[in-house]
Amino acid sequence: MAKIAFLGLGVMGFPMAGHIAAAGHDVTVYNRTSAKAEAWAAQHGGGHAATPAAAVTDADFVFCCVGDDPDVLAVALGDEGAIPAMKPGAVFIDNSTVSADVARQLYTAGQEYGVMTLDAPVSGGQAGAENGKLTVMVGGDDAAFATALPVMQCYGARVVHMGAAGQGQQAKMVNQICIAGLVQSLSEGLNFAIEAGLDTDKLLEAISGGAAQSWQMVNRGHTMVKGEFDFGFAVDWMRKDLRICIEEAKRNGAPLPLTEIVAGYYAELSANGHGRNDTSSLIRRLTKAR
Ligand code: NAP
Repeated sequence: MAKIAFLGLGVMGFPMAGHIAAAGHDVTVYNRTSAKAEAWAAQHGGGHAATPAAAVTDADFVFCCVGDDPDVLAVALGDEGAIPAMKPGAVFIDNSTVSADVARQLYTAGQEYGVMTLDAPVSGGQAGAENGKLTVMVGGDDAAFATALPVMQCYGARVVHMGAAGQGQQAKMVNQICIAGLVQSLSEGLNFAIEAGLDTDKLLEAISGGAAQSWQMVNRGHTMVKGEFDFGFAVDWMRKDLRICIEEAKRNGAPLPLTEIVAGYYAELSANGHGRNDTSSLIRRLTKAR
């Protein structure tokens, strides 16, 4: 069993660290708001530390699940950051969704300090984190992937090595591009069904087994119809993810016409005070007219 540090105990990190501890590893956690770290340690029996540097000193593997680019850089390389304090040969695994540039910066810093790094963003949402069935898209060297794989499998049902540093984040960008347009289509379809006076339970039973089926339809269709959005993956996190996708597309030349439109719709929801609602709240823009 390995010595693990887990940095960032939000909606995702808290249960992910819990699965690693449940597998028998020796886990020390850090969270910026220390009450969450104390609560995690009380629930799972691990240790907690006041800074990233203090949490990682003896760790073989250091996991990080925070927010945007500056948050990862602060936790990994800022004052009392993790990477300079890690022991040589240990692996830093970033589960946050951030830019490929940050993944490559961590990789370069890791080489300077003799630490291996992996970008390992996840998909599957709060439910996937809680039941330990996330999809993990990984960038980094073969040796780092091979040594960290058994620990990532504590919370990941599907862990895929995409290639070099940054390619895990690029795979996650594709995931988010595919979701953005789909949620707008689902919103338009369900709003159309309501306007047509259809029984939406019967509708979802019928079409969720056909060619229109999607994770969003199966997991969000009923709550979208009811107007329930107070859970799940926050609009403001999706805005961050689409910003990262659009910036990357400017570099590689891939057109993202639909993604750019949907990013504007999410900006509108956020400006109206719905930034913490689930991303399926896109339907709000259509139903508010009624
Ligand atoms: P969250 O619930 O908002 O939690 C964010 C965590 O990061 C908290 O522990 C927060 O500490 C910490 N944090 C943020 N900025 C920090 C900083 N500058 N320094 C130190 N700690 C900092 O977010 P989440 O939903 O768990 O998401 C975490 C990451 O996973 C994001 O990159 C997100 O895009 C990605 N993700 C989320 C989902 C989802 O469904 N939620 C799905 C896939 C991927 P405090 O407790 O002190 O605020």
